[in-house]
Amino acid sequence: MAASAELSARLAAVRQTIGDACATAGRPESDITLIVVTKFHPAQLVRDLSGLGVTDVGENRHQEAAEKSAQLRDLDLTWHFIGQLQSNKARAVLEYADVIHSVDRSSLVSALNKAWLERAEASGQEKTIPSFIQINLTDDPGRGGVNPRDLDAFANAMSEHECFDIRGVMAVAPLEEDPAAAFERVARASSQLQTVVPGARFISAGMSHDYPQAIAHGATHLRIGSAITGNRPAGG
Ligand SMILES: *Cc1c(COP(=O)(O)O)cnc(C)c1O
Repeated sequence: MAASAELSARLAAVRQTIGDACATAGRPESDITLIVVTKFHPAQLVRDLSGLGVTDVGENRHQEAAEKSAQLRDLDLTWHFIGQLQSNKARAVLEYADVIHSVDRSSLVSALNKAWLERAEASGQEKTIPSFIQINLTDDPGRGGVNPRDLDAFANAMSEHECFDIRGVMAVAPLEEDPAAAFERVARASSQLQTVVPGARFISAGMSHDYPQAIAHGATHLRIGSAITGNRPAGG
């Protein structure tokens, strides 16, 4: 099935906006990894996106991500797990996820480490897990993410496990706040993280409604859904 003209047009428009925002910020476009968030959409949409040159896709629910990635094994895609991850799903997520953006608590760190060690034992060798530490930009602990005040301690504890390749910070800008102010805090957290984990310079931030501001504040990994896929089907 050919990708719909609308999908192709929306993708082109987002790529254009990314290019413009990079030019304004004086950053090379090669700084940016565009992750298309395909949650709630069928595997066929992911296939169509791949046909349009998309290489990175994001999913936030384990069950759905596992099913879709299994249906699309023939495609050369990088799968990003971006949603809240339950510790008891850690092992299963490692089966298909290439990058985890939502490492945000010690119990999950332990669960991922245990699952990784078991895989390493079974295979004799296991690639480290490219991981982002999710930070919480609100005062609401229910939102998920490490409080930026605890970032140093969390990153230190995480780096004691050999399984993680800590790439940087991830955040969702609160809807009730000016995104620019939120992304400034993300940039500060990123600098702070790099004092603990040199090289963890990547920033996963920016969604459909705020990615130009995220680029202005140093985002390297954009997680864009509806601006490319159109509205999510019911339930999304
Ligand atoms: C759904 C989701 C996105 C993409 O949201 P859009 O507004 O559709 O671009 C990005 N990040 C996370 C964590 C998400 O759950």
